Amino acid sequence: MGKVDIKWSELGFSYIKTDYRYLSYWKDGKWDDGELTKDNQVHISEGSTALHYGQTAFEGLKAYRCKDGSINLFRPDENAKRLQNSCRRLLMPEIPTDVFIQACLDVVKANEHFIPPYGTGATLYIRPYIVGVGDNIGVNPAPEYLFSVFCMPVGNYFKGGLAPTNFIVSEYDRAAGNGTGAAKVGGNYAASLLPGEEAHQRKFSDCIYLDPQTHTKIEEVGAANFFGITKDNQFVTPLSPSILPSITKYSLLYLAEHRLGLKAVEGDVAINKLGEFVEAGACGTAAVISPIAGIQYKDDFHVFYSETEVGPVTRRLYDELCGIQFGDVEAPEGWIIKI
Ligand SMILES: *Cc1c(COP(=O)(O)O)cnc(C)c1O
Repeated sequence: MGKVDIKWSELGFSYIKTDYRYLSYWKDGKWDDGELTKDNQVHISEGSTALHYGQTAFEGLKAYRCKDGSINLFRPDENAKRLQNSCRRLLMPEIPTDVFIQACLDVVKANEHFIPPYGTGATLYIRPYIVGVGDNIGVNPAPEYLFSVFCMPVGNYFKGGLAPTNFIVSEYDRAAGNGTGAAKVGGNYAASLLPGEEAHQRKFSDCIYLDPQTHTKIEEVGAANFFGITKDNQFVTPLSPSILPSITKYSLLYLAEHRLGLKAVEGDVAINKLGEFVEAGACGTAAVISPIAGIQYKDDFHVFYSETEVGPVTRRLYDELCGIQFGDVEAPEGWIIKI
């Protein structure tokens, strides 16, 4: 394996073809043994349900290079469980947790020279996905499935350090109350492109979605979960069946309580009571935490901590979680798989 010519500090979040990806095929009621392949093109039937009816689910996680040169995977068992949940919702065959984790490990090892060095803040992003394929035309579950895991180096989301940005409340709904909001399935993201584009045109980082039934409570921040810090040291994050359960969010809930001594609360976050929060942020694997400077809701613009500075609790949460992921801070039991 040779060296790769990548400027780690200039990496963004874009597709880079790495050497190997894992590919497994489901046919006649079972998964095959799976293999690593060099071909980054997928050849599937024109009748594939993934192409027409959105029978597709994905995951996103990262591999981190530690100071001692070892490699960390962060809670891949949680990604495996969430993908199983998405598969059940779309009537796709589940990938067993051990197969999922082994596929991630194999792909990371096979592309090891693409893992950014410790200290750059850059990581190896891992993208598992499953799609319904095979000859089909009716609205039925696909006769065959393809599960693949590929990866690519991605940059530190905040090149100039953690920086707050602004968000706008969307008039669109992200998901229906009893729809597919809690599953990481393709259709949710196709539906989010237009609201996201409208927010970008108005110079906001992304849009905030309210609950689809009453439009009074915050559900999601683009493709990330919301959290707020109250004056009396509570870490509050919305609870709803149409939110995608973020592994970053559940990790922060735990760290807020057990490492920072905050009270961790899952509950309603009313859009007309933003004044309860002294800090706010969006969380997910890609950026870990994006501090929220302000939220535009109709004609009001509400600023939390500051339009330019990151609040102290948000920064401590960010440092604690990143420290765990890169192996500098002791992880809670079972959070890290070492390669
Ligand atoms: C993936 C995703 C998140 C973040 O989940 P993590 O497990 O923290 O990466 C949040 N919201 C949506 C809509 C997502 O797709």
